[in-house]
Amino acid sequence: MATATPAIRLDENVTRYISKPRQMLINGKWVDAASGKTFPSYNPATGDILARVAEGDREDIDRAVAAARAAFDSGPWSKMTPSERGRIIWKLADLIEKHGEELAQLESLDNGKPLAIARIADIPGTVDMFRYMAGWATKIEGNTIPISAYGAKYLAFTLREPVGVVGQIIPWNFPLMMASWKLGPALATGCTVVLKPAEQTPLSALRLGELIQEAGIPDGVVNIVPGFGETAGAALTAHPKVDKIAFTGSTEVGKLIVQAAAGNLKKVSLELGGKSPNIVFNDSDVEAAIPGAALAIFFNHGQCCCAGSRLYVEEKVFDKVVDGVSQLASKIRIGAGIEPTTDMGPLVSEEQLTRVCGYLESGYSEGAKAVVGGSRHGDKGYFVKPTVLVNTNEKMKVVREEIFGPVVTATPFKDADDLIAKANDTVYGLASGVWTRDIAKAHRVASQLRAGTVWINCYNVFDPAMPFGGYKQSGWGREMGHEVLNLYTECKSVCTPIA
Ligand code: ADP
Repeated sequence: MATATPAIRLDENVTRYISKPRQMLINGKWVDAASGKTFPSYNPATGDILARVAEGDREDIDRAVAAARAAFDSGPWSKMTPSERGRIIWKLADLIEKHGEELAQLESLDNGKPLAIARIADIPGTVDMFRYMAGWATKIEGNTIPISAYGAKYLAFTLREPVGVVGQIIPWNFPLMMASWKLGPALATGCTVVLKPAEQTPLSALRLGELIQEAGIPDGVVNIVPGFGETAGAALTAHPKVDKIAFTGSTEVGKLIVQAAAGNLKKVSLELGGKSPNIVFNDSDVEAAIPGAALAIFFNHGQCCCAGSRLYVEEKVFDKVVDGVSQLASKIRIGAGIEPTTDMGPLVSEEQLTRVCGYLESGYSEGAKAVVGGSRHGDKGYFVKPTVLVNTNEKMKVVREEIFGPVVTATPFKDADDLIAKANDTVYGLASGVWTRDIAKAHRVASQLRAGTVWINCYNVFDPAMPFGGYKQSGWGREMGHEVLNLYTECKSVCTPIA
């Protein structure tokens, strides 16, 4: 295993950032928690404390919501021209790009992901999202509506207006990119925000807060309150002055959010868990499907809501695909994310390590076998070996529940109808993959899968323009694309007689 001492030279801003406790951003000011409390953010490669962060709670959320409310009701943001808003969001994207290396290092240290991945996926994905949304600021339009009421002549049209103050609660798997998925559309539509990053990974969102100020986003428009889910998160969700909650995280917490939001019937959008089927047919390009299946599960250490965690392979190529994916898994170099030689870093926390190892034990006790991996790696940090499980069946917890780690179950199939039933036999419906050279079959299967995304002969392809979200218990609403704008706007019908 690689040592915890970074072989790279840390950016001086990163050193500055982790050297003293980080404050929270409320109404354009960096402040301590009202309670004065801080909490640690850990380096998952070592288990050591990386930095301390102000611990937000109800009182801080109250202050942040009041700031966001004032900024929305009377502040300059919602009254600014769309063109000016778009220009400022674009400037934010430029600043993120300029500080890309520093943000990538911070993300790698705090989350554990390989620095190379943060550089090529997280940071450019964040920049692209803000640029895409900057473009939308000037294009949020209603419709003119021909109506027939009372046989009279009316002019009727719709306006799309910002929904108001938005509480945004994000997870730890792509901390900065998830902040951009949430903040981008909120800013483009003219909303104001209280953002709560995940307690495991608050650092990049807080650094983003400094860039938000530098870009010229007015005080109070974006408030960032780090803290725990059960305290700060719950206070934000239940707050009567918040108009909408946008949440990404577990399905379990998603259900709590829905209940807490009922008090003032705030709008809710949810991007939740998954147990996505990835299907390889005999007639696929197996040489492409094998690395595709490995990427589907091992990217980001399997800590993706859309991870292709159930691999279904048609009988004739089953052994070849399982063997190929297992060989690739055995070559993955495990180590601290910040080390240049690392392909796969640690899981984000001790809790995740315990959870994933618990699933492995449960799989073994029910008869599953690991072809490769199958256990913790080392005894320091939160590393798990990339794992391929066979001898599984549809009743096992490892097949039914979201593991959120580098663990895939591989199951052979021979009948296509039976396969579709199995693939859809899940409470989730976030993503799926299909590998075949038969174009009609690919689209037939794509239409039969009950999932928000179907990747054909590819996996994990994301773009700010392509909507993402879930059927069934994988969520409500779609993020990205122009679809997301509906989640951040109210539709107002305006109607007047003209004759
Ligand atoms: P995971 O189980 O993968 O850590 P969670 O769904 O628990 O994911 O966390 C995602 C986000 O939801 C985090 O920012 C976390 O602090 C927040 N959260 C957790 N519990 C609650 C809650 N009861 N109310 C609001 N937010 C919560």
